[in-house]
Amino acid sequence: MDFRFTPEEEAFRQEVQQFLDQELPPGWDDEIDEETEEGVQALAEIGARLSKKMGERRWVAMAWPPEYGGLGASYAQQVIFSEEVAYKEAPVVYSMGVNWVGPSIMLYGSDEQKKCFLPPIASGEEFWCTLYSEPGAGSDLASLSTRAVADGDEFVINGEKVWTTWGHLTHWGWLAARTDPDAPKHKGISTFVVPMNAPGITILPLVNMAGYHGFNQMYFDNVRIPKKYLVGELNRGWYQLAVALDFERSSSGGVARARRILDDVMQFVRENRSLLEERPVLRHGLAEAVIEVEVGQQLAYRVMSMQQAGQVPNYESSISRVYAAELDQRVARLGIGLLGLYGQLHPKSRWAKLQGRMERAYLGSIGDTIATGTSEIQRNIIATRGLGLPRD
Ligand SMILES: Cc1cc2nc3c(=O)[nH]c(=O)nc-3n(C[C@H](O)[C@H](O)[C@H](O)COP(=O)(O)OP(=O)(O)OC[C@H]3O[C@@H](n4cnc5c(N)ncnc54)[C@H](O)[C@@H]3O)c2cc1C
Repeated sequence: MDFRFTPEEEAFRQEVQQFLDQELPPGWDDEIDEETEEGVQALAEIGARLSKKMGERRWVAMAWPPEYGGLGASYAQQVIFSEEVAYKEAPVVYSMGVNWVGPSIMLYGSDEQKKCFLPPIASGEEFWCTLYSEPGAGSDLASLSTRAVADGDEFVINGEKVWTTWGHLTHWGWLAARTDPDAPKHKGISTFVVPMNAPGITILPLVNMAGYHGFNQMYFDNVRIPKKYLVGELNRGWYQLAVALDFERSSSGGVARARRILDDVMQFVRENRSLLEERPVLRHGLAEAVIEVEVGQQLAYRVMSMQQAGQVPNYESSISRVYAAELDQRVARLGIGLLGLYGQLHPKSRWAKLQGRMERAYLGSIGDTIATGTSEIQRNIIATRGLGLPRD
């Protein structure tokens, strides 16, 4: 057992770091006001330019086979790349396409779908959002009621989706809709691809508690898509979604964000030595956070090594996911506490320390324990699939 990356992998990490330092405009993260629509658009433009350059290097989906635009690289390399992008908080929006839509199309899509949809994901030119949740279907996703009804050569979609991350910034949607309302609820769902500019789609912004427009409410009013946009078998969508959710929970990045917050806090502590003299106990909080970041990292690498060995991580992904999401919140809370009352200040406040990054990090981390399945749902998976305990 060797927990180290190879010298080549470490060299690749440095190459990615240098690339990001070079390509991200100076001051972009402190100067753009993400609480305005102009700021959201400016970040999206930076992200689109960056994605295209990453795509030119075939980094975006590097673990994919070359025929779909990847490099056939190892999962270790893919994880290194994702970690560095997450650490820099680069404003890219390609991850849903790369991490679960593309892999699902590879498994269930037709040859035509693979040829049409996979290369533009890998080249960093087309982005995807995920259309699962509805006002009446979140944790209990199988209750979804958006309908897709066959009509000649088309499906007609009607319904409402919610919390659609990046719905306003993406080209395609990965949709779960009900195709047989009379079947038991898990047996009447299908998955589709939907162009986001199709007539009949209305996208309304949902602004999160940090003032950022990241997700949306979406309405489908007689949206017509060709039949060839059905992915996989009709009414087998639930089983395909289960696999897509395994892919989703296996995605790395959460621990890199915690590491970034901790590094910011440590920078502040080094520059303000008197803090530790006044409150020596802070040392223990920081030491604890370092231990936890290390643990989170190893849990993520376990998922990576299973993927590398050709296994499908399942409850192992939930362990890694729930730990990383809660870790982000703990580390951000530690940072806020360490800065005292200054920690709660918005970046625009003249009194803010660390450019208000702790306030941003904490508010931004709250959704982590809800997205991709709440912490309770992840623990249910660990209890049932990991420990073999009964469902209720
Ligand atoms: C930042 C963020 C991004 C998101 N992005 C997307 C996206 O791009 N696309 C998309 O489709 N959705 C997205 N979502 C929605 C997300 O998937 C749902 O919010 C989530 O699945 C929970 O569903 P819900 O909000 O309906 O809560 P509910 O399911 O109503 O849950 C409410 C509470 O009950 C608990 N609960 C429910 N069932 C159980 C159970 N069986 N056992 C124990 N506790 C239970 C939950 O843990 C939670 O605390 C996003 C959410 C967030 C916060």
